[in-house]
Amino acid sequence: MAIDLEFYSPVHQIKNKLFDEQGLTVFIKRDDLIDPIISGNKWRKLKYPLNHAQAINKKHLVTFGGAYSNHLLATASAAAKFGFKATGIVRGEPVNNDSLFLCRLHGMNLLFTDRESYRDKPALFKKHFADDPDTIFIDEGGASPEGAKGCAEIIDELPETYDHIFCACGTGTTAAGIINGLNNHGLSTQFNAVPVLKNGGFIRDEINKFLIHPSNFDLHTGYHFGGYGKTEKRLIEFIKQFVAQTGILIDPVYTGKMLYAIYDLAAKAYFKPGSRILAIHSGGIWGVLGMKDRF
Ligand SMILES: *Cc1c(COP(=O)(O)O)cnc(C)c1O
Repeated sequence: MAIDLEFYSPVHQIKNKLFDEQGLTVFIKRDDLIDPIISGNKWRKLKYPLNHAQAINKKHLVTFGGAYSNHLLATASAAAKFGFKATGIVRGEPVNNDSLFLCRLHGMNLLFTDRESYRDKPALFKKHFADDPDTIFIDEGGASPEGAKGCAEIIDELPETYDHIFCACGTGTTAAGIINGLNNHGLSTQFNAVPVLKNGGFIRDEINKFLIHPSNFDLHTGYHFGGYGKTEKRLIEFIKQFVAQTGILIDPVYTGKMLYAIYDLAAKAYFKPGSRILAIHSGGIWGVLGMKDRF
């Protein structure tokens, strides 16, 4: 593998009275420690696409995201580190925020586009880069079979087996990769997807698209807190307590919702006593700064 990161993603136990009372052992895989900027599942989803780009001699990564996209920032930083040019096509009116500032600081060129044209990403790519043989298209959020392949490696790294694995879902690529990884290892762990979007039932089809073998998994659609990028007081309060009690930073867009789901399901006695539960910390910790006025 020509392009790779050496990283540390240990599994830590989360101790809590609620878990003791319910007879649960809860762990968290620290993919947030992979890199401060190319963090969590975004590195996992970029690894194979970047190697592919290098193999076919494409030097300019073109990708897509909203104004707070962790994927844009991860791509900007990975491009800088591994010697690519990068363009981010950003949904909506030109704005500036901490996340886009960091994208620019890492050398990413930003093109803002109206919400209507943003829907058709291949058309946007063609419009701007049809005549540029150096460019390669990377989908929003790194959604791709290669992205899922990178995420399957999460399972290769696990030191032990678990009864449940939980992960926050946006495009569903990470979830699909984890399920593929469980199948690769013949594990019967129950996978639990927590969609962060409203009406998250559609994620089932998105996950199925990237599955190598049809598989059962659970979808917990009740933890979107109003939808993507939306939040509620009880989620913010949960995050404050969690961070102060564990020293593990989580954000309101993704990992806060997933961990809230585990605590809430535990409180409702959803899990069999004795269950071992693994949460995937998929990174994106700086997302908390985009919502600091809500704390
Ligand atoms: C992007 C992101 C996700 C969503 O991953 P998908 O593969 O798109 O489902 C989850 N958690 C964090 C922290 C993210 O940045």
